[in-house]
Amino acid sequence: MPRKLPALNADNAAFWQGGERGELLIHYCLDCLHFFHPPGPICPHCASFEVAPRAVSGKGKVLSYTINLQAWTSELAEPFVVAIVELAEQPGLRFVTNIVGMAPQDVFIDMPVRVSFLRSEDVWLPLFERNH
Ligand code: ZN
Repeated sequence: MPRKLPALNADNAAFWQGGERGELLIHYCLDCLHFFHPPGPICPHCASFEVAPRAVSGKGKVLSYTINLQAWTSELAEPFVVAIVELAEQPGLRFVTNIVGMAPQDVFIDMPVRVSFLRSEDVWLPLFERNH
């Protein structure tokens, strides 16, 4: 499905391009030892500048989701699942993504998932699939 790709910058390039090496890279604070997302130059927990991307397991669970049934553009394949996934590394470490590789109606809350990268130009989109 066609996607609007993110604008890469020094802070977010690791997140969007880590998939080239099969890695989900999330910003991590070396002072307070917390992951945070979205990536940025300052830790939102302690305001430290000692932050850097770090590979996580790519495993998590579905916190919430919705099934999109509307073809917003003519090329958009529907239905598809928009989900909030929480990563296994830290409570509250979550982001919006798509659940792929399964029928949308079979997705459920707390479903275990793992990252599945979809390359689009110079970006590796971190999507998620069911982790059996
Ligand atoms: Zn911190």
